[in-house]
Amino acid sequence: MARVKFKQKCSKCNKNYVLTSSRHGYMVCYECQKEEMNQPINDPEMKDLFNIPEEYYKHNYFLRNIKVNYIRYKNLSENQINAFKKTVIDVKKELEDMAANPPF
Ligand SMILES: [Zn+2]
Repeated sequence: MARVKFKQKCSKCNKNYVLTSSRHGYMVCYECQKEEMNQPINDPEMKDLFNIPEEYYKHNYFLRNIKVNYIRYKNLSENQINAFKKTVIDVKKELEDMAANPPF
């Protein structure tokens, strides 16, 4: 099942495109978020949560955003954690589908 994807230019570098399933006002690309995202995480539970393939972060803005939020505020709600876990499963499926049916 293919979901509609929007392509939006990064709000920070205005160069790279960000792929999203819904329209947001402010979107930042992987390259611009990479540095902030790669800060060490000390909480073992959170470290475990964020220990997913880098490819997933490249593919999904929401996953990047949750991680950046945690790094900034050192706190996530139960809902955010659950949404993150659910999105990881979706992204895994999406990437598998893309590998099986290349869009190009
Ligand atoms: Zn950017």
